[in-house]
Amino acid sequence: MDIKPIRVEVTCLFCDAALQAEEEREYQSGDLIKCTACGEENDFDSVRDIALEKGEEQIKAKALKERDC
Ligand SMILES: [Zn+2]
Repeated sequence: MDIKPIRVEVTCLFCDAALQAEEEREYQSGDLIKCTACGEENDFDSVRDIALEKGEEQIKAKALKERDC
């Protein structure tokens, strides 16, 4: 499955802080992203799914707006 790069923010599953993903690092399924705010390690698959959902919502909202114009 192709994973497109997403520009949406990924947030910590534990404290909801924005996660600082290292730009040059390619996160892969099974990786953990450590939250700088609470120190918990977030499962990359989970945060990516949430980010993708958010991204989809944004695209849908944009599409609706454009249709209304
Ligand atoms: Zn956190």
